[in-house]
Amino acid sequence: MLNLNYPFFAGLLLTLCAAATAAEKPQNFTRADLSAASTLRERALADTTAFALVESLTTEVGPRPAGSPGDKAAVAWALREMQRLGFANVRTLEAVVPHWERGEAEFQVLSPYPQAMPTLALGGSVGTGQSGIEGDGVMVKDLDALAALPPGAVKDKIVFFSNRMERTRDGAGYGKAVVVRASGATAAAALGATAIVIRSISTSDSRFPHTGALRYTNAAPRIPALAISNPDADALARQFESGQPVRLKLKSSSRDLPAMRSANVIGEIPGTDRADEIVILGAHLDSWDPGVGAIDDGAGVALMMGVAKLIRELDLKPRRTIRVVLFANEEFGTSGSQAYLAANEAEASHHVLGFEADFGAGPVWRLSSRVNPQQLPVVDQIFRALAPLKLQRGDNEARGGADLDGLGKLGMPILSPDLDGTNYFDVHHTANDTLAQVDPQALRQSLAAFATAVWLGAQYSGSWERVTTAKPPRR
Ligand SMILES: [Zn+2]
Repeated sequence: MLNLNYPFFAGLLLTLCAAATAAEKPQNFTRADLSAASTLRERALADTTAFALVESLTTEVGPRPAGSPGDKAAVAWALREMQRLGFANVRTLEAVVPHWERGEAEFQVLSPYPQAMPTLALGGSVGTGQSGIEGDGVMVKDLDALAALPPGAVKDKIVFFSNRMERTRDGAGYGKAVVVRASGATAAAALGATAIVIRSISTSDSRFPHTGALRYTNAAPRIPALAISNPDADALARQFESGQPVRLKLKSSSRDLPAMRSANVIGEIPGTDRADEIVILGAHLDSWDPGVGAIDDGAGVALMMGVAKLIRELDLKPRRTIRVVLFANEEFGTSGSQAYLAANEAEASHHVLGFEADFGAGPVWRLSSRVNPQQLPVVDQIFRALAPLKLQRGDNEARGGADLDGLGKLGMPILSPDLDGTNYFDVHHTANDTLAQVDPQALRQSLAAFATAVWLGAQYSGSWERVTTAKPPRR
């Protein structure tokens, strides 16, 4: 029955073996693409464009919070620089942004040991009025501790949140701690508090307070919210720990102004045979106001523009379109990202791969992803092209940053050269976020990692499959 014709069988076996070998070593990239990836990587390691861009943005524009004159100047800057670098289809996409003005803030301990401490209003905080707010203080660690207090414990009082964030390389400490900044005011107001003061979401021992957005809800009245630095929070905690009543006073002239028009700024390196597939490179153009937004997110802006500039300069012709999007107002409500999503609703599925840089100026220490698991071997191959940069191989739970969140939720795969965040929260959202925080060498290494991965992402010979698993929660 089984008539084994030897030559036929041997031939079949050879075919099967060849198929197996092909399956093990899929031709994801051509030899030319891999060689271009090496060239890009090496060129990036010696390229000064990214640093020059952060220098220019922080010097010529400076602070650029949503709705401010700096916001407008940043849009003009980005348009001009994208044109100068030779990007195609340079354009703006309008976004309506909230306009909140910080004003001045003061914070004082009146008793038991009177002293003033440097402070910043949290982004979006209401002001206190001319006379300020004075009251007895109640110290709690975090939202859980607040919720566990007996009824009436914070009524007509000022709540001090004392929890200190943990320093981590991947930002996990921030995710755990930041909820107090976002929701502390509403949680305390719901229990009758008149104002809150938080320990900055910070890993620094400097005296710079950190700002950042809060989120009021309609569940409670809007009460003022200030932040103080870690050393001042330690000192305030010691006053509470003395066992004596602590009396506090705060004053802030923060206020909301009418919404303004801002814009995302977009530029491209057009694709060739797969031009309708978009590899999107996101960073945000706005910054908080106390500093000049060098690490948040001037560095991200510079990295994404630097990648496109290098690819163009080497006259590489990507198969897919590489689209740099500098988003408006990430910091205070992701207005730009929402406007982009609304404007591209019909083309959301054309966004086949995303990269986002919004975590400082590097170096890149790991390559993570969020791709369809079948395509992990492609990521492995990209990782091998990054070998000289000595990265770690991360997991498949990358979430990208806030600006690509919407596209990610729609199933767009993410490749994430992870920026090292160990020291990021020493200066994030402070007056100390200046060019001095950007290490040119770390920035060049980051440029090399992004450029290599973006190029290969644009050249992949297969199709980037949509991601169907649920998006991992924000870290
Ligand atoms: Zn940012």
